[in-house]
Amino acid sequence: MTDADQSRPEGKPWIMGIHAYVPGKAVSADGTQLIKLSANENPLGTSEAAHAARKAVADSAEYPDPDARELRLKIGEVHGLDPARIVCGTGSDELLNLAAQGFAGPSDEVLFSKFSFSVYYIAARRCGATPVEAPDNDYATDVDALLAAVSDKTSVVFLANPNNPTGTYLPRSEVKRLHAGLPSDVLLVVDQAYAEYLEADEDDGGMELAMAHDNVLVTRTFSKIYGLAGERIGWATGAPHLIDVLNRIRGPFNVTSSGQAAAAAALDDQEFVSRSRDHNAQELARFTAAVEALGNHGLRPIPSKANFLLVLFEGAVTAEQALNAISDAGYAVRHLPGQGLPNALRITIGHRADMDQIAATLRALCGERA
Ligand SMILES: *Cc1c(COP(=O)(O)O)cnc(C)c1O
Repeated sequence: MTDADQSRPEGKPWIMGIHAYVPGKAVSADGTQLIKLSANENPLGTSEAAHAARKAVADSAEYPDPDARELRLKIGEVHGLDPARIVCGTGSDELLNLAAQGFAGPSDEVLFSKFSFSVYYIAARRCGATPVEAPDNDYATDVDALLAAVSDKTSVVFLANPNNPTGTYLPRSEVKRLHAGLPSDVLLVVDQAYAEYLEADEDDGGMELAMAHDNVLVTRTFSKIYGLAGERIGWATGAPHLIDVLNRIRGPFNVTSSGQAAAAAALDDQEFVSRSRDHNAQELARFTAAVEALGNHGLRPIPSKANFLLVLFEGAVTAEQALNAISDAGYAVRHLPGQGLPNALRITIGHRADMDQIAATLRALCGERA
């Protein structure tokens, strides 16, 4: 046999630059199950109406509606949007990947802020484009830095607002300034996965930009406040020619029948959404204050508008020590050294008793009275 006979299919170099997703761990070192506060899931679960609608879909022998018609009509109704300008996806993850694939290729750059959502890097790599990270401003998005990083190769800009993993929020005026500074042939994707956690009068203006301009897509998800992460449903809205591109390359049956039914019912249960929002606002404020009180030990919360808090460890207590202590207390939270955050933990806001216990664990670790 010659060497040539032993050749094998090799992944493309730009694909081999991607590391497979490493989920947060859900069991402790001794094998006990941990309470999961590592994936920004809704601690209140799912709307009962959504759960019932999901279970009522009996026939799994038939393909789902490829156009998710009922669901798009419902989304249009709730958000005041034209259903023809909405496309649903297998989670917003699929849509973020399609946005990169549809509008960027091997000679292009895909731009986003440092410490933003990990999917953007993967989405850029997957289509052979070059991911470009703009510097942050103390963990928050810096519009000037993003605009300064735009080159004639930039074709897509991703902005998560509020951002994951930092929880930071870019106000409406700044989102507007970012859009105004981009060339009109650059696609701006405003990823609003946590938008429902904002207060009623808070709105980053992304939807308005998507309605008024030809180069803005907004993505939303049912995975976070709606509590349907397991069903994998997201949606995007924007100008018709943008939606047309995503429709050409999405999976034809990309949202399951149970997912479509559950999401439509979830939209009808806005009471569950407000209850989830209120719970989060209360517990996020309490937990943030508890971490702030440990400022003299080097703990620093990054102000969050999402359903999690990024806690920096800038003193003697390290993020790793805190991760282990929190794990010993029975909880899984997210350590993200792979995302350039070795000195931080991202902690999802759970039930009050759980947040109190984590706060007590941090106090004990700092040598304060728990
Ligand atoms: C969780 C999250 C999503 C949602 O992903 P799905 O695929 O819809 O579950 C999208 N963007 C950001 C920034 C997120 O944190």
